[in-house]
Order: sequence, then C-alpha cells, then structure tokens
Amino acid sequence: MKTNKHHTLRLVQQRGTVRAHDLVQQWAYSPATARSYLSYLSRQDLLERTSVGYALTTRGGERLRYFDVAGCPHPECPLCERKTGSYLCPRCGYEVAKQDVRILPERDFLVVVRHAGVYCPLCLKLLFPESQALLLGIPKEP
Ligand SMILES: [Zn+2]
Ligand SMILES: [Zn+2]
Repeated sequence: MKTNKHHTLRLVQQRGTVRAHDLVQQWAYSPATARSYLSYLSRQDLLERTSVGYALTTRGGERLRYFDVAGCPHPECPLCERKTGSYLCPRCGYEVAKQDVRILPERDFLVVVRHAGVYCPLCLKLLFPESQALLLGIPKEP
C-alpha cells in the first residue's frame, strides 16, 4: 500500500493522535513505512509529535480542509474519487462544478462584511479565500 497524505491526515483528525501501528492496521503500510511517513509529515509541519502519538498541526488542519474541497494530488485517492470535475463543500457536501465557480467580490451587508472569495452556493460556507482561488485559476464574477 502506498502512502496517501489526504487519508493519513484525515485519520489523524478523526482519532486525535495516531502512532505508526495505527497506519499499519488501517492500510497495511509496513511498520517501517508508517514510522518514516509520520516523521516525514512532521518535518513538513503537518503533524507534531506528542507524548501520546502524532497530532495534527494548524497547518496540517488547513491542508486537510484544502484537500477536502479541492481534492489532493494523489492519483488514486479514495477520498477524492468523485472530485475530478468539481469542488466539494466540506460542510454540506454540495458539489460545485469547476467550470461554474466564481470569486465573489467583497460586499458590505451593513451587519457583516462578506470577504472576496468562493462560497458554497447552498450553505454559503467560504470554500476558498480570494488569494487561494486566484492560485487555482478560478475567475472572478464579472
Ligand atoms: Zn485525496
Ligand atoms: Zn455547503
């Protein structure tokens, strides 16, 4: 079994902390692979080592949210199978077709300011802030 960052980070989020043997049990990584993969992710600042195992860092949590919406670069990721042509809202599960997404401009609603970015059309969750959406090549609303 090859390592997969997306589902490894998801497992850490679900369990709070993981140790190498959790990865061995879950995906039949070899014990050596599991250990070196966890330390690789912590060198990338996505996980941190604690006394009870590896935990998600803030950056690791952000990366996981990004993967959940935009998909991850892993070619056969079981969590991203459906996501080839769309972004998935992590809150309500709504799929927005990639060709339909637009960056909405900042707007002042008197009580709240809606910052520029891409929003789920169903539940209005912010999917990407403008800076990230521009990196993904999402056009602005005309
Ligand atoms: Zn994935
Ligand atoms: Zn939504």
